[in-house]
Amino acid sequence: MNPMLRPILIHPNPKLKKVCEPVLEIDDALIELSDDMLETMYHAPGIGLAAPQIGVLNRIIVMDCEKDDAANRKPIVMINPEIVYSSDEESTYEEGCLSIPEQFAEIKRPTSVQVRWLDTNGTEQEQEFHGLWSTCVQHEIDHLDGKLFIDYLGTIKRQLITRKMQKFKREMAREEK
Ligand code: ZN
Repeated sequence: MNPMLRPILIHPNPKLKKVCEPVLEIDDALIELSDDMLETMYHAPGIGLAAPQIGVLNRIIVMDCEKDDAANRKPIVMINPEIVYSSDEESTYEEGCLSIPEQFAEIKRPTSVQVRWLDTNGTEQEQEFHGLWSTCVQHEIDHLDGKLFIDYLGTIKRQLITRKMQKFKREMAREEK
């Protein structure tokens, strides 16, 4: 089966605020879903996507922070990812999100994290991530717990972005008519 593009949910949406369920079985449907997620992420384009962003409330994320170089893609699919270690040192990156289009904010997070996950063969993997990869994996794992990058901002900034997104959604709905 060829991978399919899945519509990306836009904030505010109740599905983006839910704690996702662990994956219990890695079957063909899950492999197809992860292929669709990668296709959707590359097409957007983005460097990470979490299953709840396409309305699937399971603990699956995909990432590729080298996506600008199509010849050197490094897609990673993580099933039930867990941060097992975070550095005390923190770094600030300007973050965006495919569910919050065209809004960016500087967010401070641990500079490096050690992550444990299952790959699509069901094999346990563990790796340390630094720099952009570290920010990205933390951002995507947050999605699995119903947390968005704007939740790190103060109330006023967060509400401003949420109002912009409500307006954006109304405009999109009008265009579809
Ligand atoms: Zn996001």
